[in-house]
Amino acid sequence: MTSLPFTEWLPHQRWYAGRTRALTHVEPAAVTHLPDNLDHVLLDAHYADGGTERYQVFVGWNLNIAAELSAAALIGADGDGAASDALYDEHSAQRLLALIDTGAVVDGVRFSPEPGVALPVDAPARISGAEQSNTSVVFDTSAILKVFRRIHAGINADLELNRVLARAGCPNVARLLGAVESETPDGEHLDLAMVTEYAQNSAEGWAMAATSARDLFAEHDLNPDEVGGDLAAESARLGEAVAQVHRTLAAELGTQTAAAPVAAMLGRLDAAVATVPELAEASDGIAAVFRAAGDEPIQSQRIHGDLHLGQVLRTPEAWLLIDFEGEPGAPFEDRRKPDSVLRDVAGMLRSYEYAAYQLLLDQDDADLARRARQWAERNRDAFCEGYAAAAGYDPRKDPALLRAYELDKAVYEATYEARYRPGWLRIPLQSIERIVNGSDLTTR
Ligand code: ATP
Ligand code: MG
Repeated sequence: MTSLPFTEWLPHQRWYAGRTRALTHVEPAAVTHLPDNLDHVLLDAHYADGGTERYQVFVGWNLNIAAELSAAALIGADGDGAASDALYDEHSAQRLLALIDTGAVVDGVRFSPEPGVALPVDAPARISGAEQSNTSVVFDTSAILKVFRRIHAGINADLELNRVLARAGCPNVARLLGAVESETPDGEHLDLAMVTEYAQNSAEGWAMAATSARDLFAEHDLNPDEVGGDLAAESARLGEAVAQVHRTLAAELGTQTAAAPVAAMLGRLDAAVATVPELAEASDGIAAVFRAAGDEPIQSQRIHGDLHLGQVLRTPEAWLLIDFEGEPGAPFEDRRKPDSVLRDVAGMLRSYEYAAYQLLLDQDDADLARRARQWAERNRDAFCEGYAAAAGYDPRKDPALLRAYELDKAVYEATYEARYRPGWLRIPLQSIERIVNGSDLTTR
């Protein structure tokens, strides 16, 4: 194990997060021998800047992996034979599911089914290619095992909130079926993996929205409500689903009052202006919108924390919210902090703008821009209507706070785009200008 070439292997994995840092070496921090040639391995990546990151891999020895996957799966060889990432191997994935099904505990690694659940241990399994930051295995049409790659001490909100929502019977999440958890040697909790129901025949909200907007752009003479691909009815249902999840989280985990978010927003603005010079000119106006949110304490509760159209799936029955891990850039402990439901609402509203304006990135056509605006407003309004109908609280009733949350999100997006996707920076910059100038949804 210790002579496996983890240092060479890790940087090539899609979920490796250290690309901007100089890696010195990778070493196994804890190894648990599981049945059937499997090891559970926590890997510590050490960086030249003195920092470390912890990762997780299920290592399988001398596996018989499908030919097209075996090269991607291979970690390397040592005296015990050839080691591979076991999630690529159907049989190994089924063995992991069986460990969960039977509630196995192996040297402190706890596999557990949810109460009353039987897992599809014989279902055909295949690794999913869909995701960036974790690795999932799909079991036929019935279950999906998500193995977290970055491991932090403490509670992972994705598992935590999915468990709360499933046990409360909330229909707007993929029902949790089981989990893998353990502890560090000094007793800190570690969340390692979770299994949920697989949403078969589902469509991603982002794909549906982009298709709908594209349909509208192709129909030059029609308004959004006249186009076949109109999404407004679906957006309203999505608003209802988000409200339902919020209500369940409030009922199960409570509500509090919290400090007004203005100081935190101003702090994030300062940091953003320091890295995105394009924000400097608007920064006084942005700060004024934040201050206009007032300093009254706000109602807060557990929320999704990173809600956008890529985190919702439309099944034949319902909209599902997935991926409750919280904002990826935030420190792990901060991701579980209660906040206003308006943070999630604002995330969805921003996402509608993205779905419309990403289609216009390489053109300056005033008519298309007008239609993009119409499409975004129609769906943002529909989402809020649906939310209000199910929550008994219309998010637009707190316009100053909602604008502040939307602007806070747009400032975050500007930092993200400037760094990773400069070609998209104009989307948040245009939105910031619109929100600061007061021509947005909440002020009409
Ligand atoms: P990313 O880093 O890309 O956000 P992630 O590791 O956080 O990925 P998720 O966002 O939970 O993982 O899921 C990634 C993708 O897997 C989703 O966009 C969706 O297409 C698919 N997926 C996740 N959960 C389910 C499910 N229960 N049923 C069907 N598909 C799912
Ligand atoms: Mg995701």
